[in-house]
Amino acid sequence: MIKKTCGDSGGLNAHGEPCGQTKDLAPENGLCSYHDPNRSEAARERSRRAADEWHEAVLDAKGAREAPPPPRSFADVTRSYAWLSWAVQNKVIPPAAANSSRASLREFERTLRIEERLRELEAALRKAGVKL
Ligand SMILES: [Zn+2]
Repeated sequence: MIKKTCGDSGGLNAHGEPCGQTKDLAPENGLCSYHDPNRSEAARERSRRAADEWHEAVLDAKGAREAPPPPRSFADVTRSYAWLSWAVQNKVIPPAAANSSRASLREFERTLRIEERLRELEAALRKAGVKL
């Protein structure tokens, strides 16, 4: 038997794909607490807090506080990707948390590349005698 998910009732995740949540689906519309418009912001806040507490508890239990600091360079980004892979494999953080972290890292990487390109262009302009 196929498990019923929130997505079966129309719940979509941030990528526009069917939501895979199978727990706490509302009997009246089949949506999870996150996608059910009838449920209050308070319920969402409760589930966010529960997820945070779970995350903290797991981190404590695994003694895995040595997550890399916020990235400042391409090397830091690579370290962060490696840590996220390790952390998911070892159930230190939930896959969803790793996915949102990866999205942030990709955005940061893009910013680094743009800054790098800007520096190259400024250098080329200066070399050509353009005052900046
Ligand atoms: Zn959902």
